[in-house]
Amino acid sequence: MQLAKRLNRLPPYLFVGINQKIAEKQAKGEDIISFAIGDPDLPTPSRIIEYLCQAAHDPANHRYPETTGLAELRQAIAGWYERRFGVILNPDKEVLPLIGSKEGIGHMALCFIEPGDIALVPDPGYPPFSMGTILAGGEPYFMPLKEENDFLPDFEAIPREVADKARLMWLNYPNNPTGATADLGFFEKAIHFARQHDLAICHDAPYTEVAFDGYKPPSFLQASGAREIGVEFHSLSKTYHMTGWRIGMVVGNAEMIHALFQVKSNLDSGIPQAIQQAAVEALRSSQGCIAEHNVILQRRRDKLIKVLNEIGLKARIPKAAFYIWAKVPRGYSSVDFTEKLLDEAGIAVTPGVGYGKEGEGYIRFSLTVSDDRLEQGIKRLLNWKAV
Ligand SMILES: *Cc1c(COP(=O)(O)O)cnc(C)c1O
Repeated sequence: MQLAKRLNRLPPYLFVGINQKIAEKQAKGEDIISFAIGDPDLPTPSRIIEYLCQAAHDPANHRYPETTGLAELRQAIAGWYERRFGVILNPDKEVLPLIGSKEGIGHMALCFIEPGDIALVPDPGYPPFSMGTILAGGEPYFMPLKEENDFLPDFEAIPREVADKARLMWLNYPNNPTGATADLGFFEKAIHFARQHDLAICHDAPYTEVAFDGYKPPSFLQASGAREIGVEFHSLSKTYHMTGWRIGMVVGNAEMIHALFQVKSNLDSGIPQAIQQAAVEALRSSQGCIAEHNVILQRRRDKLIKVLNEIGLKARIPKAAFYIWAKVPRGYSSVDFTEKLLDEAGIAVTPGVGYGKEGEGYIRFSLTVSDDRLEQGIKRLLNWKAV
């Protein structure tokens, strides 16, 4: 048996070592409080589940779905974008449901990247941007997200020959893992840059509804010229706590969406229809759960960030997304410090370097920890610091 060489190009999964260590400690009966998981701890709102249960009984939903998704779902997505962002989409040409946005993000590379082509990818960043590029035979070029630039890429710093060889640029705001946000002015700069170098933009926006202090993150598609050159990936995962149901969407440029449809229609058979119908319910009915979730997350953010700053782990207050990106003390690597927290305080976090070279020097705390566990975690951090 001979496996394809492309598998060797995938870098080792950086969390393997840490995850193993956590598992060993848990096997020994140690109680580890994990701030490492970016997955909502609160359940999917019950009315969405009830809708899903009913839909599961309908025999029409027991058959193969279509890759394009139900027309009703595409219309519900378009309606939601119009109500939320004032962006008007053609539900037949500018909307495609996905089996979670990660699936579409990975497959989009196959629409643009030929062997040797470049994709511009944020560093630190969500790993599927670069892994999709590598699996398609291309090369990621990492755009550093520096704190002094508010974790926005500096387009001027990208060498001309790289920009000219690039086919695709990935952006993600509100950002995982830094918690940074971007305004329409930034998106317009990105569009200007992309036009100059004839490349397409993919904006990944699953956190636009997870925001605090009254802030409302914009959609990339609100920026002028966005639809001519790019798409936006969105998801029900973070908005409605539906990560386990696997449903998301891509909206925007019709040519890009058709290209992704071509790839997907040959690889998957769409999203289970009962889940599509539950998504229609989520998008169309009251959006009250979003504000409820954000109140809880904001309270957790405020409690945790106060303690982190007290114990010398400096972090900016994120306006959106559910992560705190904290600086590790001088003299530690992000992995060393993650291990220290685990060994000495029984607290698990994610080492920043797992998101790219530029993540070195940082650790990520996720706020998706129950209020009880958060309180316990805070006590442990304070005691640990006091020792
Ligand atoms: C959670 C997340 C997603 C959403 O993934 P789904 O596949 O829709 O669940 C996409 N991008 C980023 C940056 C994320 O953190």
